[in-house]
Amino acid sequence: MSDASFLPLFVDLRGRSCLVVGGGTVAARKVDALLTVGAAVDVVAPALGTALARLAQAGHIVHHAREFAVTDVDGRVLVIAATGTRAVNAGVAAAAQAAGRLVNVVDDPALSGAIFPSIVRRGELTVAVSTGGAAPVLARLVRARIEALLAPSLGELTALAARWRADVQRRLAALGPRRRFWERVFEPRSPVVHACEAGDPAGAERAMAAALAEAAAGRASPTTGSVVLVGAGPGDPSLLTLRALRALQEADVILYDRLVSSEVLELARRDARREDVGKLTGADHAAAQDTINARLVALARRGLRVVRLKGGDPFIFGRGAEELAALRAQAIPFEIVPGITAALGCAAYAGIPLTKRATAQQVTLATAHCAKSLDRLDWPLLAQAHHTVVFYMGVGHAALIEAHLRDGGRAPTTPVAIVERGTTAQQRVVRTTLATLAQSVEREHVQAPALIIVGEVAAGEDCFPWFASAARDATDDFSIAA
Ligand code: SAH
Repeated sequence: MSDASFLPLFVDLRGRSCLVVGGGTVAARKVDALLTVGAAVDVVAPALGTALARLAQAGHIVHHAREFAVTDVDGRVLVIAATGTRAVNAGVAAAAQAAGRLVNVVDDPALSGAIFPSIVRRGELTVAVSTGGAAPVLARLVRARIEALLAPSLGELTALAARWRADVQRRLAALGPRRRFWERVFEPRSPVVHACEAGDPAGAERAMAAALAEAAAGRASPTTGSVVLVGAGPGDPSLLTLRALRALQEADVILYDRLVSSEVLELARRDARREDVGKLTGADHAAAQDTINARLVALARRGLRVVRLKGGDPFIFGRGAEELAALRAQAIPFEIVPGITAALGCAAYAGIPLTKRATAQQVTLATAHCAKSLDRLDWPLLAQAHHTVVFYMGVGHAALIEAHLRDGGRAPTTPVAIVERGTTAQQRVVRTTLATLAQSVEREHVQAPALIIVGEVAAGEDCFPWFASAARDATDDFSIAA
């Protein structure tokens, strides 16, 4: 005996007769689900809502404009009661059960002999979730979690497997080698999976042909490693993309920077090795970068799935290009996952719109990494009014930024917001003006990582603070008049 009361079952309904009782929106949803899988649908209802009326007019369903009759269930594979009236639904259920038909009563598991699961689809790959009617909301939440974990490209992968299935069966007749072959093909970041993820179906076909030729010749191809360059966002782990989350959960090794928050690292696969390469970047930047490049290549060569995790976005002041050049030179396959860059994360969490119709038609992301990099900026351009300028790595150079912008002609009253450790629980926003920028950084002991946002949009009264740490924010009251 078992406690489970429902058997999960996938039913082929193509051309099979199904009955839906009810003409409203709930009935329409069920009709849609049935039509999607090619069922022949009859609807019994005195009147139809607009959605169903359109389907009836187009000939996609057969409408019987009357009340339900017991004989309506005859010959049906599945009967669905969706009238919204419990007594009518109960009558439909009783008639269906008496005739030995499968019946589903919407939102009424007690009356249902069959229930609809929550589903996640990637082409022919289907995941169905059910709580046996006990907690449909929970089923939907679980479904959403699975949705986040399954790459959209799995549909393409499933279709590819279907196309190759007979070929593989013929050329790898023995069950063991065949199963191992498929396991290698479906492995996260295998060459076939990699090509599917990269939107390259022709490449996936080629990778599949190569893998099968090798397996048929009795050579197990060495597992190929790969590197995914992932943007970890500015700190709040919920700002990761779904793709970043998947890469973290498939990683064998993660090389991360100082800026990556521990909460983000916690989302990685439990047994993934974590290497802090942030501490390398001390005095000698170039040497540290060479060490990281060499490490990435060596790990991937060993067949490992490597994630190179960087704060914010890897292509915004992240030296992503240098690491990719090293991988490309060694023909190591790689992927790039964008992240929310600090400017966007901090602006959102401090409620500062970076552009605004009347006051800011341009945004510039600038680096204030060193005095030399500051010398190369186009200060007259940055000093123009109605132009938001976001300085990365600027805390140590606030005085220079202030002087350059003022020399370029930017008004001393231009509002400035300094966002320290944006999007994290320690976020702090210091508001000031250009005239007192350097003074405020010093007085408030602003620490890296922090962004300096200069522009009309940073005026306190034009902002939309909402993030909880606002209580700790400091406003430079003496600076407004400066
Ligand atoms: N690739 C990263 C930037 C790396 S440069 C990105 O796209 O965000 C490092 C600088 O980014 C820091 O000096 C700081 O200016 C900024 N920064 C990164 N994270 C930040 C955060 N949570 N709050 C404020 N500034 C941040």
